[in-house]
Amino acid sequence: MRNRPIPGSSGLVREMSLLGDPLLHRPCENVTDFGPSLAKLIEDMFATMYAAQGVGLAANQIGVPLKVFVYDCPDDDDVRHLGHVVNPELVEADGLTVRGPEGCLSLPGLEAGTERFDHAVVEGLTMTGDPVRIAGTGWFARCLQHECDHLEGTVYPDRLTGLRRSRLLRAARRAPWARQG
Ligand SMILES: [Zn+2]
Repeated sequence: MRNRPIPGSSGLVREMSLLGDPLLHRPCENVTDFGPSLAKLIEDMFATMYAAQGVGLAANQIGVPLKVFVYDCPDDDDVRHLGHVVNPELVEADGLTVRGPEGCLSLPGLEAGTERFDHAVVEGLTMTGDPVRIAGTGWFARCLQHECDHLEGTVYPDRLTGLRRSRLLRAARRAPWARQG
């Protein structure tokens, strides 16, 4: 047992930004202030991710256009990966390309077969400014690529083409959470 609080247990569940929200469709800014407000943001992100039963969340999904994401995600060997990264860079994405079902908390209830690399490495900083390197395979590699995409203003429908894309966007327009007008 570790004498540390559960991530998100002191955080606030924030409102989720949904597909079409401008902040989801433009790149986020680098974090320059590593003070208490960053720790609070990460706490809120964990609380919001867990409340929505997600495996990853980017800051612009709760309306904060900064380069931060959190994750609590298994890989294909059922190894759990839990953490956060600030100013991440996807430094490796290679190996097999796998098309697998992908969803997003900003398009609740929907998913589509999306191609991702089977191996990914992200480098960035912790909330205290220390360097961190995160390597993932399988489902967790997918998560890392998905969250890095968010911070660049890309959502997974942007990765789709043809019928898969048109089907997903039609379902998104008809979804109960879709913006009216
Ligand atoms: Zn997402």
